[in-house]
Amino acid sequence: MADQFDFIVIGAGSGGVRAARVAAQHGARVAIIDRGPLGGTCVNLGCIPKKLFVYGSQLPGEIEDAAGFGWDVSDPRFNWPVLRDNTAQEINRLNDIYENLLRVAGVEIYRGCAEFIDARQVKVNRERLRGERMLIATGSRPFVPDWPGREHAITSDDAFSLERLAKRVLVVGGGYIAAEFAGIFRGLGVQTRLLYRGSMFLRGFDDGIRRFVARHLESKGVELSFNDTPVDISRDDDLLYVRTASGERIETDLLLVATGRVPNTQGLRLGAAGVELGQRGEVLVNAAYQTNVPHIHAIGDVIDRVQLTPIAIAEGAWLSNTLFGASGAPTLNYELIPTAVFCQPAIGTVGMTEAQARESFGEGIDVYESEFRPLKYVLTGNLERTYMKLLVRRADDRVLGVHMAGRDAGEIIQGFATALTAGATKAQFDATMAIHPTSAEEFVTMSTPLTKKSAV
Ligand code: NDP
Repeated sequence: MADQFDFIVIGAGSGGVRAARVAAQHGARVAIIDRGPLGGTCVNLGCIPKKLFVYGSQLPGEIEDAAGFGWDVSDPRFNWPVLRDNTAQEINRLNDIYENLLRVAGVEIYRGCAEFIDARQVKVNRERLRGERMLIATGSRPFVPDWPGREHAITSDDAFSLERLAKRVLVVGGGYIAAEFAGIFRGLGVQTRLLYRGSMFLRGFDDGIRRFVARHLESKGVELSFNDTPVDISRDDDLLYVRTASGERIETDLLLVATGRVPNTQGLRLGAAGVELGQRGEVLVNAAYQTNVPHIHAIGDVIDRVQLTPIAIAEGAWLSNTLFGASGAPTLNYELIPTAVFCQPAIGTVGMTEAQARESFGEGIDVYESEFRPLKYVLTGNLERTYMKLLVRRADDRVLGVHMAGRDAGEIIQGFATALTAGATKAQFDATMAIHPTSAEEFVTMSTPLTKKSAV
């Protein structure tokens, strides 16, 4: 006989864990199933190890800067296994914390692959579980285009456990992961080249930010190659060769492909439950995260709307509060999602880009822009600058977008995201007292809009 649950959650990543805990706190009997370590992509193969690697890769620059402050740091050396293994240890600690959080909440944890038997039952190993409601929160996995020889490439899944650090790396892609890993590898001393199929990477971000980051990555020694893409990959002993559409043959030691992520639905036997998928393999849901089978829901990367951890968490919490708590919570607002790319310099952004604002409001916007050398670098030879942009709708003074590239951009933009969510106007930005001396104060002291379209 199948064990009976109020809620069966498949996938113990950020979204699934939050949904399971919230449901259990509302008194539901909850099971969560995962085939891998708890915490999903964010904890194990994404946000957390990536950010630790970013910190590690920034240190050589900081050590160089230290000389300008009088510190003798003449013989620093880097040990890759230390960074890799310490990161792995931290991930293990987080896995235990996730397990503990679930157990304390009273959630029953099942380790193994979940398979639907029918719309009410799933199988894990030899056990059958029956659920009043079910949640598919199985996340996503890296997508690698169908290039001949693609088996020689690694993805971000592999990048955290490399046996040794390569001398040269080719990073393919122009999104979050490509930009972040280009910075990580370069910072750790690897000769780094980034290959992107379009004319400027980081599509979707403000054009001023994109150009600024491209310029800085190049000045830090990352070779940027745009308008080109691999057509095949071959290996000769330890050397990899990537032939590109433009006819170039690139020799490298490591090839990291970061060309997007696809929903994880294979192996679940969703057909047995009658759950419909979209063209990209995503689970189709309505505004209440309900699939075509009304008691089966889906959230997070597997629905392929916004592939960001905080969104999956918010969706999971909203769903369980709605299903098992007091109903009537407003649906999530996907309009103003702040985001950061932890490339170097980092990007932090919330709201419309200049192109989007011009498309919506034509000439009815004011653009404020600033670029400067942060105080932290004035005693050093570090030429890194900071770039900021503010977009304001002239008709009602509303701030439409806040963009930054530079040190701590993610930390700074989080606060401004609150202001934009509250509907802040430029007059309110102006009325905000500055904190001096900081980089962030620039956002409340920008006084003169550009008269023409910005050019960085
Ligand atoms: P992205 O969607 O950010 O970028 C994918 C890149 O790959 C784009 O530049 C795209 O080009 C390119 N690409 C797609 N298909 C092909 C192809 N067939 N051939 C060549 N190039 C191709 O994906 P990522 O893999 O970088 O990251 C996945 C998602 O994970 C992100 O979108 C983000 O939501 C999330 N993430 C968030 C992070 C954060 O919050 N800091 C960090 C890392 C990931 P084009 O632009 O031309 O389409």
